[in-house]
Amino acid sequence: MSKISGKETKPEILVRKFLFSKGFRFRKNDKRYPGKPDIVLPKYKTVIFIHGCFWHGHICKKAKLPDTRNEFWQKKISRNVERDKKNICELKNMRWKVTIIWQCEINTKEKRKKKLKLLLKEI
Ligand SMILES: [Zn+2]
Repeated sequence: MSKISGKETKPEILVRKFLFSKGFRFRKNDKRYPGKPDIVLPKYKTVIFIHGCFWHGHICKKAKLPDTRNEFWQKKISRNVERDKKNICELKNMRWKVTIIWQCEINTKEKRKKKLKLLLKEI
């Protein structure tokens, strides 16, 4: 699981590469913003979070809790979810547009293509 929690996970790199290829310029993991968004697009006042389904409590197959120490994980992850909510709220209060991309939405080439196309429309 250490692989998922690493600072630069693969999905983030893929999304950044895509945006860069489309001419977007951004900052990454900017500490000045709540939640240190994975991608900050100052020109569009948009931030993008690429969330690992497990750590951020997405309701999908990928986020299934381990059978052992179930309660421990439940608490840990609900804390993360609360923190995410708070960060998103703060960003929105600062008039930033917040986009979340879930790992499971971009974990195959086809899904990624579709999702990233949508993303361009949202920015
Ligand atoms: Zn998911």
